[in-house]
Amino acid sequence: MSSSPDTQAQAQVQELRHRLQSLLDAAHANERKLDRFDALERRLIAVSSMEELVNLLLVDCRADFGLDAAELWLVDVDDELRRSLPTLPMAKAPRLLDGHGPLRELFGAARTTRLIGPGPDAGLLPAAFEADAGVRSAALLPLIRQGLLIGGLHLGSRDPERYDAASGTKFLDRLAAIAAIAIESMLNRERLRRAGMTDGLTGVHNRRYFDHRSLIEFSQAVRHRYPLACLFLDIDHFKAINDGHGHPVGDEVLRQVGGLILRSLRTGDLAARYGGEEFVVLLPRTDLAGAREVAERIRHMVQEAPFITPEGGTVGATLSAGLAMLPPGATSFADLLAAADRALYEAKRAGRNRTVAACDEADINAATAAAS
Ligand code: GH3
Ligand code: MG
Ligand code: MG
Repeated sequence: MSSSPDTQAQAQVQELRHRLQSLLDAAHANERKLDRFDALERRLIAVSSMEELVNLLLVDCRADFGLDAAELWLVDVDDELRRSLPTLPMAKAPRLLDGHGPLRELFGAARTTRLIGPGPDAGLLPAAFEADAGVRSAALLPLIRQGLLIGGLHLGSRDPERYDAASGTKFLDRLAAIAAIAIESMLNRERLRRAGMTDGLTGVHNRRYFDHRSLIEFSQAVRHRYPLACLFLDIDHFKAINDGHGHPVGDEVLRQVGGLILRSLRTGDLAARYGGEEFVVLLPRTDLAGAREVAERIRHMVQEAPFITPEGGTVGATLSAGLAMLPPGATSFADLLAAADRALYEAKRAGRNRTVAACDEADINAATAAAS
């Protein structure tokens, strides 16, 4: 039975309506997708801190795009990020890479966005995401700045059809380019910030930063009534090291002593290079016995260390430590510093390579006075 021309025309109109509707649906879906990308890109450009940037890429992006997993890999050859990131409040941390190897495995020589669905490439997914993420399809975005691969942003879904190799990557390429620019500019900002408060030779804080932070530490210790210990550490006969082995060897000893001091401290402690071969350390919430222990630990480490010279030889060094406590005795921060400095002088006078606390100094003075 054949249908009438009217019915045929109606069926064609119906069919056209359906096609038009699905085209409109697709256009709306694309527009919503474009809006989501656009909103994310605007936020990426506006971030003002590294933790905000990481949270945006790993937490917000995942929620906004309805993803099951997001990973950020960043190359960190000289441990720059390893030092600064753990102190930042981040819901999820990026994975820091010692070299470019893992990125090369994912992105190969082409270094272009990869869409991975079920198929031969799916074998890459367990490497690109945490084992328990259950990711079945993913977009792997290479982050490239000035021709260098600086990291990867991995967006994963449990839905095997969310990403497939045949889809276009225009939006994702753009997102990767903007994310890479945002990361680089954050790293530069962080470098500048750190350069302004760090001593270039030893990597510990500089005097300017110490002068600023120490006043905050002092007022907090006074307000909350907890003990604050101050150490002055000065390398013994450092002039002789310079004179005997040369200035570059002296520099190397200083650099390594700075490293030993940093490694002996806890997160809330503050160490700075106070002057030439003199370091100052503030230990909040630390009593006399605890502070003496820290000073002695540093002193022993320096005494035991074979300092490696640039030529591959070794040279020995010792240091003397002066220690003062708030309270007792000091009512101003200048008092605390002066008491630690006097104790250091006493340590030098008593023969060097030792720790003297301000209260010991009082004992020593009393004994000297009694004897005379
Ligand atoms: P003491 O045991 O009494 O502390 O003796 P010292 O020789 O360590 O002290 P002195 O103050 O006489 O000499 C400190 C030397 O440190 C003099 C200075 O040239 C050297 N110095 C200061 N800053 C640097 C630096 O950045 N690098 C090097 N290599 N030497 C430095
Ligand atoms: Mg000295
Ligand atoms: Mg000195």
